[in-house]
Amino acid sequence: MNAASVFFRVMNAFGKPIIMNVSDRIDEIRVDISRLKSEGKRIGFVPTMGALHSGHLGLIELAKKNSDIVVVSIFVNPEQFGPNEDFDRYPRQLKDDLEKCRSAGVDLVFTPERSEIYDEKKFLKIGIDKLSDHMCGGSRPGFFEGVLLVVNKLFNIVTPDIAVFGQKDIQQFQIISKMVKEFNHPVELIMAPIARANDGLALSSRNAYLSDQERKAAPGLYRCLQYIEKQIQSGVDTPKLLIEHQKGELEAKGFKIDYLNVFDSKTLEPSETLREGNNYILAGAIWLGKTRLIDNILIEF
Ligand code: AMP
Repeated sequence: MNAASVFFRVMNAFGKPIIMNVSDRIDEIRVDISRLKSEGKRIGFVPTMGALHSGHLGLIELAKKNSDIVVVSIFVNPEQFGPNEDFDRYPRQLKDDLEKCRSAGVDLVFTPERSEIYDEKKFLKIGIDKLSDHMCGGSRPGFFEGVLLVVNKLFNIVTPDIAVFGQKDIQQFQIISKMVKEFNHPVELIMAPIARANDGLALSSRNAYLSDQERKAAPGLYRCLQYIEKQIQSGVDTPKLLIEHQKGELEAKGFKIDYLNVFDSKTLEPSETLREGNNYILAGAIWLGKTRLIDNILIEF
């Protein structure tokens, strides 16, 4: 056990110590997990970048319901940030995160440094065909390749039976689902619904960047998605004009639109005409000042 590894001990209702093991080392995590697996325990996994909020805690809760042991990873993955993105200023609050994990009943927390996960030079990449051409993939080149790289590694390290990801990052969920299928990862994926603040804003670690004024305006994205959803549910099957109009409304309120559209839930390509019986993702990403916010609603047409 190295210096960065910590044991958290608290007492449960029966006075028995509950131990949350925290390690930044792959070999330690592997030893713990193979012991637990040899005891017949089902491993649930929640990968995160930290700065934990109620959305993450919802994922942990779902993992607890579907497994015996919950493993959380906290790693701000440099490979999924572009050169001009917010890697350096991404919120890091490990102490607070560990406290939240402990209170939520997490069993193991993996907190690797960059050098534990990545070699200085990498010779291999994971490529994505088409699924990352639109939505967040369209405006953040290389983002999903970086996500797949780290999730692939984390799955190989943690070897979970189930893994929970949030609907908030729906494109991420769909692309990881494809990776699991095509690379034969023996893991079942569970999607957690979007956790929202009372005013509808999807919770996000990046909400911490918002000024008071931006925070007040931020739920406008969800309200706009809800309005478009309502129109679609009441029969609009070619939503292009409706969406263009809503973009204008958002821009008038000071939002800068990255994308706002309806996408086919399987191909993740924009859908101009909605067909009965198909599933769609109504999704948007906007900039409020220096903060990029995303949100989505799933639509069964
Ligand atoms: P992150 O730490 O932002 O990489 O997120 C870790 C996981 O939490 C991902 O699977 C996200 O989709 C999920 N997540 C983040 N915010 C929310 C939210 N508001 N509701 C549900 N899941 C979320």
